[in-house]
Amino acid sequence: MTASVRGERGRQHTLRRPVTLSGVGLHSGQPVIIECRPGAPGSGITFVRTDLPGATPIAARAETVGDVMRGVTLGGRDGVRTVEHLLAAAAGLEIDNLRVGVNGPELPALDGSAAPYCDAFERAGLDEQPTRVDPVSLHEPVWVERGTSWILGIPASQFRITYVVPLPSDALGIQVADVEVDRTRFRKEIAPARTWGRIDDLQTMRAQGLALGASEENALGIGPHGYTGTPRFPDEPARHKILDLIGDLALLGRPLQAHLIAFGAGHALHIEFVRALEASSQSTRSAPSFPSA
Ligand SMILES: [Zn+2]
Repeated sequence: MTASVRGERGRQHTLRRPVTLSGVGLHSGQPVIIECRPGAPGSGITFVRTDLPGATPIAARAETVGDVMRGVTLGGRDGVRTVEHLLAAAAGLEIDNLRVGVNGPELPALDGSAAPYCDAFERAGLDEQPTRVDPVSLHEPVWVERGTSWILGIPASQFRITYVVPLPSDALGIQVADVEVDRTRFRKEIAPARTWGRIDDLQTMRAQGLALGASEENALGIGPHGYTGTPRFPDEPARHKILDLIGDLALLGRPLQAHLIAFGAGHALHIEFVRALEASSQSTRSAPSFPSA
């Protein structure tokens, strides 16, 4: 099994050669070009704004998250918006080190999923690096909640996500997607799932200057009677929630070995969960606990 091999004795990966993608930002509607380049072992994933002379590279870590409204923004004024689908593709394909240059404030929406990033990374090819991966595993449950939304992480030998999503449409009800995530299942079952949203939210968001790049091609609309377009999977929204969570978990900087169960969560709670994981793994590292039995 890919996940356990990587967890127990896997090595880090990066791209074999640089690859370029272009498109428009989901929220900004602005054209943007990104170049993904190989990264040194142990360097993690970094973003840098190539349109701003002298801009500092931003590490893709929970501590650099600047905003979590309708997507994840890393950094401040020279930051990069909507990084989660690229990060999901990198995590899903087990790419640990990557330098991403962006000539604008937001990554391209592409088709609203992580599949075009996966295609590009696979085109470039992957190189194994000498440094071993150091997965985060749990020694006790980790839990975050906000209102009626929650995420629970429990110790497990495989990386698995169960996502429960109450949808804003009586016709669709509550969706559940459950995946034991490895490279193959991520690529086939999760990466192609697109962003989704309520059709009546679109007008409001546009008035706020958001979703200016959203279209039928890169987002699955949901109306009172169900989907307003053709879904790629019957449970595409729940699968996309798993995609977003995988992208946000990449901000740990290390792969995770645990079973996560999420209910009605979003980016804000995902990031809170990453911070709770960091706190939990730090406390177990500094004060190791020994089972009494
Ligand atoms: Zn998303």
